Amino acid sequence: MRPTYDDDNIFARILRGEIPNDTVAENEHALAFRDISPKTPVHVLVIPKGRYVSFDDFAANASEAEITGFMRLCAQVCAAEGVSLAEDKPGFRAITNAGPHGVQEVPHFHLHIMGGQPMGPMIS
Ligand code: 5GP
Repeated sequence: MRPTYDDDNIFARILRGEIPNDTVAENEHALAFRDISPKTPVHVLVIPKGRYVSFDDFAANASEAEITGFMRLCAQVCAAEGVSLAEDKPGFRAITNAGPHGVQEVPHFHLHIMGGQPMGPMIS
């Protein structure tokens, strides 16, 4: 069973162009934009353009083209933001929150790419 997707969530509205965003990169299947309330010097959100509530919804139901497009955009963001190990930079954290236990605020799957400083422990 899939979770119900809310077409009024804030990222759906960003994708429809109803709310402005600070776009970092985009392709056919995914959009990357800066978090409105950055927690680290680099804090970019990568979202699929399709209607997926959470990571597990996306992983189970997205097409291979959507998954590849999403992942390639993540790599592009890491390089553009100067955090990619592929360019000998110091790295980053990529996290996704899902549901109440994950403390997910926006019910459209998104990956946080965070860096520009050393990260603390995973759970505080
Ligand atoms: P979550 O807790 O769902 O993993 O994270 C949601 C993230 O979306 C938060 O880091 C929050 O700052 C960000 N956010 C919420 N509303 C907006 C918005 O309207 N624009 C942007 N760019 N980010 C948002």
